[in-house]
Amino acid sequence: MQKSKSLFARAKKHIPGGVNSPVRAFKAVGGTPPFISKADGPYIFDVDGKRYIDYVQSWGPMVLGHNHPVIRQAVIDAAANGLSFGAPTEAEVLMAEKVNELVPSMEVLRMVNSGTEATMSAIRLARGFTSRDKILKFEGCYHGHADALLVKAGSGALTFGVPSSPGIPADYAKHTLTADFNNLDSVTRAFEQYPDDIACIIVEPVAGNMNCIPPVDGFLQGLRDICDQYGALLIFDEVMTGFRVARGGAQEKYNIKPDLTCLGKVIGGGMPVGAFGGKTEIMRHISPDGPVYQAGTLSGNPVAMAAGLASLGEIEKEGLYEQLTKTTQTLAEGIKKIANKHGIPMSVNYAGSMFGLFFTDAERVINYQQATSCNIEQFNHFYHGMLENGVYFAPASYEGGFVSAAHTDEIVQQTLTIADKVLANVAAR
Ligand code: PMP
Repeated sequence: MQKSKSLFARAKKHIPGGVNSPVRAFKAVGGTPPFISKADGPYIFDVDGKRYIDYVQSWGPMVLGHNHPVIRQAVIDAAANGLSFGAPTEAEVLMAEKVNELVPSMEVLRMVNSGTEATMSAIRLARGFTSRDKILKFEGCYHGHADALLVKAGSGALTFGVPSSPGIPADYAKHTLTADFNNLDSVTRAFEQYPDDIACIIVEPVAGNMNCIPPVDGFLQGLRDICDQYGALLIFDEVMTGFRVARGGAQEKYNIKPDLTCLGKVIGGGMPVGAFGGKTEIMRHISPDGPVYQAGTLSGNPVAMAAGLASLGEIEKEGLYEQLTKTTQTLAEGIKKIANKHGIPMSVNYAGSMFGLFFTDAERVINYQQATSCNIEQFNHFYHGMLENGVYFAPASYEGGFVSAAHTDEIVQQTLTIADKVLANVAAR
């Protein structure tokens, strides 16, 4: 850890918290984050030469594993032709066609540079299209850091949105209503109160930012029905779930058609890429076709498109999602069984290649309140034990984990052997 410690100390001098995205600073679990020098397949390597089995996968993009040879070569080839043109390219056409083929509800789509840009633009479009100001999101769902979306209501009841960060005017945040994930009654109450004012519901169809919480039966269909009843748009934020819980995302897995979809992570194969899109009649309101403004100097960047196209080409391989689902189940159920063997209560959730471990005696975790009332102390001991033994999980109990195609059975078994040792220690404390 010597080199990481020294880099972290230097980093803190000129970078807030020493990191360029907050969760990387290990504030939730304490200690020094390993500084990473390279990655390959299921592994990341730190600057001190230590290897970790990685279940973060750059927070989702690397569904094929790190440093995939096909993606790497596509990037090298594209870079040889120049890094950015600010003019249309064939790769953007291929990308739009490919996304539409994999996610048919995205009839028309626009490329952007991050998940945040995708959700921010989709919200603006929903407001512009419906001429309504209010939006509805769920407590514990994260949709990037645009002002309208960095809002969370007080627990339980519907309230006016309160900004969850200084710098967001209360007058602005008040248009964001918050309901409880997996609770249709809370959504109905919001619409009964504001029947003509809500432009859209935005939801992570499998919540991945309060650990991993899949939708309960009927929840997503209920959202679809409520939107149809009140003339609001349904936006699926599939930045995390897209090309991950199934080839066509959560909308394919749960068979629900949203009006708009936001993508990120896997669509860029590791490069900074996002996209939003949906029904033609709605998307035609985006500039230059329509009046809702949205733009980007580097949007549709040729190197990023090459990485994304290579990534989307590889996920078409037969059997990939069955394999990912099986690996994830073996890992999550395996850890739970080991925890229980050592007398540690644990509940696990998983969907496709996303998983969540909850140190709780609740049988099933389905909402924010449950997700945030787990035993954080136990999680932190588990976390550091795994890290020390070469397994890298997300450094906070409210973050989910990811499995990639490079996580073989052998790697999962190695992880379970380490978890057995670590959980025995956690139990002995
Ligand atoms: N939506 C979801 C569901 C996310 O998980 C994230 C990022 N973790 C975002 C939006 C924001 O994406 P980005 O960090 O690329 O801006």
